[in-house]
Amino acid sequence: MNNKPILWIVIPCYNEEEVLPITSPIFLNKIKELISKDKIDKKSRILFVNDGSKDKTWNLICALSKQDEHFIGISQSRNRGHQNAVLAGLMESIDKCDITISIDCDGQDDINAMDDMVEEYLNGCEIVYGVRSDRKTDTWFKRTTAQGFYKILKFMGADVVYNHADYRLVSNRVIKHFADFKEVNLFLRGLFPLVGFKSTSVYYERSERIAGESHYPFRKMLALAFDGITSLSVKPITFIISSGFIFSVLGVVLLLLSLIFAIFTSIPSTICFLVGVLCFLSGVQLIAIGIVGVYIGKTYMETKARPRYIISEHTRGVDDND
Ligand code: UDP
Ligand code: MG
Repeated sequence: MNNKPILWIVIPCYNEEEVLPITSPIFLNKIKELISKDKIDKKSRILFVNDGSKDKTWNLICALSKQDEHFIGISQSRNRGHQNAVLAGLMESIDKCDITISIDCDGQDDINAMDDMVEEYLNGCEIVYGVRSDRKTDTWFKRTTAQGFYKILKFMGADVVYNHADYRLVSNRVIKHFADFKEVNLFLRGLFPLVGFKSTSVYYERSERIAGESHYPFRKMLALAFDGITSLSVKPITFIISSGFIFSVLGVVLLLLSLIFAIFTSIPSTICFLVGVLCFLSGVQLIAIGIVGVYIGKTYMETKARPRYIISEHTRGVDDND
C-alpha cells in the first residue's frame, strides 16, 4: 500500500526504571509487527517522554535510543505530571508523523488494541479512543470512584468517553488543532472530544501494572477529577444559584407561615419567623454569589481562548487540480 502512515507511539515515563526494560521490547515488537504487516511506515518511532524522573529512567531511554533507531526520547526539565508529559510528546510529534498513539509505559493497556486503532485510522477516523471493556483488575474502590467520576462529569455537561483514559490514536491534523487549546490545567481526555473530527472507540482489557508502583494515589486521582470537572464545566456555579432559589423560596414560605400562625392561631411564631428570615437572606446571598460566579465563569472560559470553530473539510472546486 502506498502512503502508509508514520506512527509515533508517545509514552510518558516517570520513575519507571523497573518497568522500561520489560515493556520497551513489547513496544518495539509491536511497531515492527505493524511495519511488517504494511500498516505503518518504517519511519515510525517510539517516543519516550521522561517526565523529570529521579531514577535511571532517562539513562535507560538514552541507551534504548542507541540500541535501535525506532526508540527516541525527550526529557522534561522537571516533573510536570502525566497529562503534561503526554502533551509534550504530542507537541514534539507535530509534522513529524501522521498519527500518534499515546499509551502508559507500565504495560497495563493492551498493546494489541493498536492494530484496531491503526485500522480505524485507515478507515478514516482521526481520533480513536481506547476504551476499557471492563474494570476487573481494579480494586473495588478504584472502580467505584472512577465510574462515579465519569457519571459526575457527564452530569456536569462535559463530553468525555466513558472508561477511556489516555490510550488513544490521534492524527497529526487533530494534534495541530489541539495545539490551539492553550489551557494550562490539562485534562486531555476531555479536550480531544472538543476538537471534533471523525472518531471511534476500540475496546480492550486492562491488566495489572507489570512492575513498579502506580503514581496515581487517591490524592492525585482526586486532583485530576477536580481538574477535569472545573476545566470542562462551569455548571457547579448554577448549583449555587439553584440552592439560593430553594433557600429563598423556603424562607418566604416560613415567613408566610409565621404570619398565618401569628394572625390566625395561638402557635408561637417567633422561631418560624427567625428561621424564615435566615433562609431568605442566605438564599439571596447565594443567588448573588452565584450571579457573580456566572460572570467569573464566563471570564474563565474566555481566558482559555479556545478555538471558536475548526473546519474539517472544504469542497473541491472545478479549478482545483489535485
Ligand atoms: N507518569 C508521568 N508523570 C507523572 C506520573 C505518571 O509521566 O508524574 C506516567 C507513568 O510513568 C505512566 C503513566 O504516566 O506511564 C501512568 O501512570 P501510572 O501507571 O502510575 O498511573 P495509573 O495507571 O496507576 O493510573
Ligand atoms: Mg498505570
